[in-house]
Amino acid sequence: MRQIDHFMPTASPAPSRKAQVWNPSTGEIQAEVALGDAALLEQAVATAKSVQPEWAATNPQKRARVMFKFKELIEANMQELAELLSSEHGKVVDDAKGDVQRGLEVIEYACGIPQVLKGEYTQGAGPGIDVYSMRQPLGIGAGITPFNFPAMIPMWMFGMAIAAGNAFILKPSERDPSVPVRLAELFVEAGAPEGLLQVVHGDKEMVDAILDHPDIPAISFVGSSDIANYIYHRGAENGKRVQAFGGAKNHGIVMPDADLDQVVNDLTGAAFGSAGERCMALPVVVPVGEDTANRLREKLLPAIAALRIGVSNDPEAHYGPVVTPEHKARIEQWINVAEEEGGEIVVDGRGFSLQGHEDGFFVGPTLIDHVTTKMTSYQEEIFGPVLQIVRAKDFEEAVRLPSEHQYGNGVAIFTRNGHAAREFASRVNVGMVGINVPIPVPVSYHSFGGWKRSGFGDIDQYGTEGLSFWTKNKKVTQRWPDGSPDGGNAFVIPTMG
Ligand code: NAD
Repeated sequence: MRQIDHFMPTASPAPSRKAQVWNPSTGEIQAEVALGDAALLEQAVATAKSVQPEWAATNPQKRARVMFKFKELIEANMQELAELLSSEHGKVVDDAKGDVQRGLEVIEYACGIPQVLKGEYTQGAGPGIDVYSMRQPLGIGAGITPFNFPAMIPMWMFGMAIAAGNAFILKPSERDPSVPVRLAELFVEAGAPEGLLQVVHGDKEMVDAILDHPDIPAISFVGSSDIANYIYHRGAENGKRVQAFGGAKNHGIVMPDADLDQVVNDLTGAAFGSAGERCMALPVVVPVGEDTANRLREKLLPAIAALRIGVSNDPEAHYGPVVTPEHKARIEQWINVAEEEGGEIVVDGRGFSLQGHEDGFFVGPTLIDHVTTKMTSYQEEIFGPVLQIVRAKDFEEAVRLPSEHQYGNGVAIFTRNGHAAREFASRVNVGMVGINVPIPVPVSYHSFGGWKRSGFGDIDQYGTEGLSFWTKNKKVTQRWPDGSPDGGNAFVIPTMG
C-alpha cells in the first residue's frame, strides 16, 4: 500500500497512527497517511525556526524569484497534480485543474511581493519629522485546510505567508493529503530552502498541538464551522492571530427578469459541479415570484437529467463521486430529513449507483422544491449535489433570506435590472456577492472571506488582506535634529503642532 509521509527534512522515524485514503471512484483504499503528534510538530517548529530568519532577511525580489519558479513548476506539472488530486478527492480532472489554477493565481500575486511590501511614508509629518511603516513577518505561520480544495487553499495561505518572509507549517486534510506534499516538493525544487514549507499530516491531535504551540503566532483555518469556531477560540485564547473560515449555504436569487436559460446553465454548474463539495457552491436557489419558480423548475429538470456522473478521470463526466462513504451516507441522510420535513423531492439522487463502479461513493443530482426556512435541511450545510428551491414572494424576501441565514459566505443574484442588483449587493448581509456570476470567488488581488458563521476573525485570505494577516505593521516616527536647541516641553504628549 502506498504510504504518504510528512514533508519535513527531519521526519520522525517513529511509527505513528495512520489514516486511510480512499479512491472515491472505486471505493478502494489506495494509500495510508501518517498522523503526526505534538512531538513531530516540535521537530517541524525547530526546523522552521532555524530557516526563517535567513529567509526573512532575503530581499523581496529574491523571494519573488522563488515564487516565479514555483509558478513555472506548477504549470509544468499541472496534469500530474490534477490527476493525483482527482484520484483522492473525486472531483473530475478538469475541475481539479481549476483547483490548482486558483491557488496558482495567489502564487502569481505573491510574485509581486516587492511591490506590495513597500509600505507607507510621510515626509514632514511634523517639524523635521518623517513617519514610515513596514510590514514584518510574524515568524512561523500554520495552515489547517479542508479536503475540498487540497491545492488551492494551501496555496492561498502559504503563498502569501512565505512571500512575506515567514516559514510555514501546513496541516492538510488527511482525506486527500498527496497534492499538498507534492506542492511542497515542487517548492523546494523552485529554490526554497528545505524546511521553509513543511507538511505535517494529522487529525485533531496535530491540530491541537498547533493551536497550543507557543512559537506559532498565526493560524489560518478553512473547514466546517464548528471546527472553525473551536480553532478561532482556542487559538485566540492562546494569544494567536487566527482567521478561521467555515461552512456555507449560498443562495442564488433569480429575479423575474433574469435570462433563465443562462441561470440554468450557471446553476447546474454551481450546484452540482464537484458534487456540490464547494464552499462557494449554490445549493439554494431563490426564484422571486411563483411564476419565476415554475418556469425555472421546468427548465432545470432536463438540465439535471442531462448531467453525467462518472469516475473522476472520465473526461465526459460533469461530476464525480463524493469524498468518503461517510459523506455519501450523510448527504443521503440530509435528503431523508428534507423529505420528512415536507420538502418535495423532485429529483432523487439517493441510492445512485454507477454501472461498473458500484462501490464508488456516487450521489445522484437531487432537486428539492418547496423548501422553507424552518427546515433544518435548509438551515444546515449539506455539501453534496443537492439543490433546494426556496420560493420568495418578492425582492425584499429575497434579500432577507441569505441575510438572516446563519452562514454568510457567498450569494448571487441573477437579473437584468442594474438597480435591483446594486441594491441587493449593498444590502445583503453576506461576505461575497455575485451579480450574474454564480461562484463569486474574488480574484487573487482582491481578497476572500465570508461573514457570520462562514468566517471567524476579521482578516480575509489573500490579496492585501492576506499580506496583513501574515505580517505585523511597524510604524517608525523619525527625527534627525539639525543641532539647534529644541525648546519642546517633554512632559506633554507630543503633537504635530
Ligand atoms: P473539516 O472541518 O472536517 O476539516 C477541516 C480541517 O480540520 C482538516 O484539516 C481536519 O483534519 C481538521 N479537523 C477535523 N476535525 C477536527 C477536530 N475535531 N479538531 C480539530 N481539527 C479538526 O472540513 P472538511 O470536511 O475537510 O471540509 C469541508 C468543510 O469546509 C465544509 O463545511 C465547507 O463549507 C468548508 N469550506 C469552507 C471554505 C471557506 O472558505 N469558507 C472553503 C472550503 C471549504
